[in-house]
Amino acid sequence: MSLNREWMQRDLAVLWHPCTQMKDHEQLPLVPIRRGEGVWLEDFDGKRYLDAVSSWWVNVFGHANPRINQRIKDQLDQLEHVILAGFTHQPVIELSERLVAMTPAGLDHVFYADNGSSCIEVALKMSFHYWLNRGQPQKKRFVTLTNSYHGETVAAMSVGDVALFTETYRALLLDTLKVPSPDCFLRPEGTSWEAHSRAMFAHMEQALAEHHREIAAVIVEPLIQGAGGMRMYHPIYLKLLREACDRYGVHLIHDEIAVGFGRTGTLFACEQAGIRPDFLCLSKALTGGYLPLAACLTTEDVYQAFYDDYSTLRAFLHSHSYTGNPLACAAALATLDIFEQDRVIERNRALAERMASATAHLADHPQVGEVRQTGMALAIEMVADKASKAAYPWQERRGLKVYQHALTRGALLRPLGSVVYFLPPYVITPEQIDFLAEVATEGIDLATREAISISVPGGLHPNHRDPG
Ligand SMILES: *Cc1c(COP(=O)(O)O)cnc(C)c1O
Repeated sequence: MSLNREWMQRDLAVLWHPCTQMKDHEQLPLVPIRRGEGVWLEDFDGKRYLDAVSSWWVNVFGHANPRINQRIKDQLDQLEHVILAGFTHQPVIELSERLVAMTPAGLDHVFYADNGSSCIEVALKMSFHYWLNRGQPQKKRFVTLTNSYHGETVAAMSVGDVALFTETYRALLLDTLKVPSPDCFLRPEGTSWEAHSRAMFAHMEQALAEHHREIAAVIVEPLIQGAGGMRMYHPIYLKLLREACDRYGVHLIHDEIAVGFGRTGTLFACEQAGIRPDFLCLSKALTGGYLPLAACLTTEDVYQAFYDDYSTLRAFLHSHSYTGNPLACAAALATLDIFEQDRVIERNRALAERMASATAHLADHPQVGEVRQTGMALAIEMVADKASKAAYPWQERRGLKVYQHALTRGALLRPLGSVVYFLPPYVITPEQIDFLAEVATEGIDLATREAISISVPGGLHPNHRDPG
């Protein structure tokens, strides 16, 4: 028996995997990974896979990166962890100083959480609590965009809009206001991204005009709605949104957990709109994909609303056991060093152009509705009908076929529904991009070649981190 199979059997006896219908593994092999190096992952039978999705969007400088490894090893011999209430340490102070310096001016205070979803909870609670401390308890609702994703915990799920969750867990969710997304996929023929995103802002303006008295904050994924299928929009929307939030006295929360650290072509997406949100949530690539860590940056104004005598009970009494973990902060510091020393943002421009040229032919594919790109994220959306951009029924699981084909060719290309995308580590080479484009083209050809009879009963479309 292959080593892969042995590990898979031991795994399936005891593990329950994330975002997985475990029964799928009766047919679909699980891939046990023995080691990683750069863009490559290697399984126990010695087969290698190019990590085209950066292991769920976290890895930016490759697996087992020597510089990040060394920094963590050094930190490990000094201090692995210490409580962050009443105590502090060098890595967390240095990291906070650097985050404040590198993000838009005015984001001067950093609160840590240990994963993206928790970071969203922090931003939502802080915004609500800010208004409470300022004597406006009625400001307690959040505005979100359709097709959003902000994480898995209950409040984070509430501000998301993924069918499976908004339906299955509806009874648990906060009451939010949903505004149509500025996503440009379904823009009218002949309309530019900018014109479409600008036009879609009318819905947001109306929601804020009607409800601003009860709204604490608007939360958005800037420029790319990731888990919702890598849907993209123009920065003009963020600019208009910032102006409107100021006019109506509402916070703006930027969830840059997926797009921060260079993914959109600038270090942070908000730079492209020339704006500063009131809360900036960062995680994923923050540690180079090594360790869970998240940072919520906010303004002096927000900080001051909580700063008072203890007896006023205005403090933000939120905490996670692993807040500001030193090993994770060390990984983050090493990651920020690489951004600085290697002029990553500049070098990524050539890689982004290569991603565009390597996939340009797919725009003419009869079952491709769109090839879209923002910086180092490129998505290819398979459709049942090219003219109307009508989606394939989700039960056909076309994306899963692309995933399976890619595995045989040595690539980890995990689609979102019918959306095949590249979100590679920035250490990928132009030749490796060409290879991914070749594998994706073959996979899309295979997945769209024939009609599929649906044997699965109808239901909710998962459409979230799910290749099915
Ligand atoms: C991944 C993600 C989250 C949640 O982060 P986790 O660390 O997985 O909890 C939140 N928002 C966005 C935009 C994300 O992509």
